[in-house]
Amino acid sequence: MTYTRSEDKNKALLLQSATAEQIRQHTEDIRQGVTSCCLPPCPRCQLTSDLFKRHEKRSRQFYVVMNQLVVTLMGLLLRWKCPGCNKTATDYPGFAIPYKRYTLPTILGFSSCYVADPDSSYRGLIDACPLEYEAKPDSEVSYTSIMEHSTIHRWVTTLGGYSQIVREATGLILQADPVTSICRDLAGLMIPSKKYASALRKKVLLSCFRLVFLESIYRSVFQVSIFPRLATRCAYS
Ligand SMILES: [Zn+2]
Repeated sequence: MTYTRSEDKNKALLLQSATAEQIRQHTEDIRQGVTSCCLPPCPRCQLTSDLFKRHEKRSRQFYVVMNQLVVTLMGLLLRWKCPGCNKTATDYPGFAIPYKRYTLPTILGFSSCYVADPDSSYRGLIDACPLEYEAKPDSEVSYTSIMEHSTIHRWVTTLGGYSQIVREATGLILQADPVTSICRDLAGLMIPSKKYASALRKKVLLSCFRLVFLESIYRSVFQVSIFPRLATRCAYS
C-alpha cells in the first residue's frame, strides 16, 4: 500500500505562482503609462482616485515559482499621488501584496494548505513541495538552498493580520446574499490545538483560515478575487 501524506495531495495548490508574463506585462504597462489607478478615494482628503497623478515607479524583486524552482524577476510597482493632500500610495496588482517578494498565489497556496488541513505542518509542506532557489550566476555559493519552513509561518502571520479584509468581505457577501450561511461557516472553522501555543497565534491562524475560505466564496459571488481591489480598500489590514 502506498502511503500518501496529506501534503502530497495539495501539491497543485502549493505550486501556484504568478507567471513571469504577468509581471512583465504589468511592468510594461507601467513603463508605457497605460495603467489606470485602482486605488480607493484618498483616505486623508477623500478625493476620488480618478484625479490621482502618477508619482513614481518602484522596482520590486518578485519570486516566481517555476517547476519548484524559485526564480527572481524584477518588476515595477506604481505609486500614485493625491493632488488634494499629496499623500502617496502604492497600487498593487492582483499578484502582489505589500512587503512580499513571493507572489500572492504562492502565499495563498501554502497558507491555505497549512490552515485548512488539520494534519499539515510547516515542515511537512516543505517536504512535500520543496522550493529550490535558482543559483545566482555571480554567487560563490554552490549548494542549493531550499525555502525554509519559517517562510510559511510568516505568510500565515501576514494573511492572518488582514482582519479588516475579513470583516469587509464577510459584509459584502452578506449584502449580496442575505440568506448565505457564511457566518455559520466561518464560525465552524477550527484550528487543531497542536498548531498553536498561544491564544494570539490561534487568533492569527483562524483569521488566515477565514481569509482563504472567504476568498473562494468571494470569487464565486463576485467573480473577482478579494485581491487587489477589496484588499487595497482595506489598506491590506
Ligand atoms: Zn488626499
